Amino acid sequence: MNCIICHNPSDNAICQHCAVLELQEVIRAYCLNTASKSPLNMAQEIMGHPGFPVAGHVHHALVAAVLVAAYRNAGGEVSPEKLDEAIKKGNGIPGGFCAGFGADAAAIACGIAVSLINGNTINAEHAAGRAQAHALTGEAMLNIANNSGNRCCKRSVYSVLELATNYFNRVMGVTLEAPQKRISCPFTAKNKLCNGPACKYYSDSV
Ligand SMILES: [Zn+2]
Repeated sequence: MNCIICHNPSDNAICQHCAVLELQEVIRAYCLNTASKSPLNMAQEIMGHPGFPVAGHVHHALVAAVLVAAYRNAGGEVSPEKLDEAIKKGNGIPGGFCAGFGADAAAIACGIAVSLINGNTINAEHAAGRAQAHALTGEAMLNIANNSGNRCCKRSVYSVLELATNYFNRVMGVTLEAPQKRISCPFTAKNKLCNGPACKYYSDSV
């Protein structure tokens, strides 16, 4: 088999080299090498890396990066540097932001991806592209706001990527791959704050 991150021959799904990579580099290498058009499948595989935490700000870079990579793989024009920028920008949102700044960073990460794809700058001439970014951030923010129970980075990632897949297909001129079946979260056992059957991604069979 080949390693899901570097695609080199490997005895395991993740090779020895990639198993010890720093997480930003895991995201970068995975997104550079994948041909997937499914942001959700990409996120599931990356979050399955042994070093990936149950919660934390690395999820922000993850969301921004898989959306940029899926857009590229679906035929969208985006330079490789944008992938690095997506990771850098996602990573630049301070830890604890979601709790203390009144805005969920997984939602903002969706807007980061659209901003980079549209080449948004501080100039007003790009207002249409900026509106697209803000609209997705807004939709994703409301989606997360409608959750209840404990905060959960996995639930946030799944829900904003479901929504973003739909948004990209509607607005961004590409066709990303939407999930064919219900998304089933494999992280319940590791997550002390798991909302259990109250979460729409909960599965007792994984
Ligand atoms: Zn590898």
